[in-house]
Amino acid sequence: ATVPERTDLKDLSVPQLQTLLQTWGAEGYRGRQIARWVFRAGTANIADMRDLPKALRQTLEQCTVISRLSCLGVDLAADGTRKLRYQLSDGPLIESVLIREPTRLTLCLSTQAGCRIGCEFCLTTKAGLRRQLRPAEIVDQIVQARARLDPGESLTNLVFMGMGEPFDNYANTVHALRIITHPEAIGFSPRRITVSTSGLVPAIRRFGAEGLGLNLAISLNAPNDEIRTRLMPINKKWPIDELLSACQDYPLLHRRRITFEYVLLSGVNDQPAHAEQLARRLRELRCKVNLIPFNEFPGALFRRPSADVVQRFQAILLGHRLTATVRESRGRDIGAACGQLADSRSSP
Ligand code: SAH
Ligand code: SF4
Repeated sequence: ATVPERTDLKDLSVPQLQTLLQTWGAEGYRGRQIARWVFRAGTANIADMRDLPKALRQTLEQCTVISRLSCLGVDLAADGTRKLRYQLSDGPLIESVLIREPTRLTLCLSTQAGCRIGCEFCLTTKAGLRRQLRPAEIVDQIVQARARLDPGESLTNLVFMGMGEPFDNYANTVHALRIITHPEAIGFSPRRITVSTSGLVPAIRRFGAEGLGLNLAISLNAPNDEIRTRLMPINKKWPIDELLSACQDYPLLHRRRITFEYVLLSGVNDQPAHAEQLARRLRELRCKVNLIPFNEFPGALFRRPSADVVQRFQAILLGHRLTATVRESRGRDIGAACGQLADSRSSP
């Protein structure tokens, strides 16, 4: 006989918890109490929820579970970056990366095991998509990272730039974001969360309409459709003009700008003419550009440009009065940098 699947409390938003409690005849505020245990305290056992009546705890024990990612280890890079490695209950491996900077501690989260978007320069996609992460598996990366921080540390920023394309797992990602931003659950300020996408235009528009007030980053990576289509097959479906028009319409918070990520690939998209063309295209947008010198991996088809080439590219953007920063990719020595995350058993 198949055992009926029990509800995972970590998958539930605060309103859903309240509804569940009401169906059992309990007061709604119990839902907020449970949310604090599950998402704030990171409680693994219902028995530990001391402020709940015994009968309610028993019902919870019978009908629900609190899932946890199994942590396989934490790798520490020379620059202080930490890679947290997890195994999903059915096997696939995923990773989060903790990046420490002087004034920030950023957690980079995964939304899928693998990715099916197929960008030529990205290791994550080489073995395709293993599977979508459930909301619980997205949210638990935060709960577990918090539990592993050093004394005195606290997470200041979240970026959805780990494994996977967040908008290819749209419903689960948005549901997770509602848990993450709910004050009684994870309680993270939307202003400190950035979701990065390779450019799924309808999802960008829909995401803007959700009213979550989050920061948006776009992996642009090319100044024209010819180069972008070569690097990112998704550009055939939604070319640059359509993408930039969705960006133009995205409801940004006060004083916020869209980030355009641009991986610099030697000889491919890193020439002065490319910088000029990029600057022209972005002129009308409230945006900044984040240049990411390519992080090489075994079998990669591209090379990282020299520091001079990177600087020349940046200087041209700055000359056009664009904000342009160079992302110093962290944790390269432990394979934790942009584009290096993969299920290590399946990478080339
Ligand atoms: N799928 C989403 C979220 C992942 S973000 C997206 O693509 O936006 C991962 C970022 O790292 C993207 O901006 C991507 O362009 C960049 N990236 C991928 N592979 C890289 C590599 N090998 N070196 C440097 N940056 C890379
Ligand atoms: Fe997927 Fe993003 Fe990698 Fe492209 S860059 S393959 S969308 S994870």
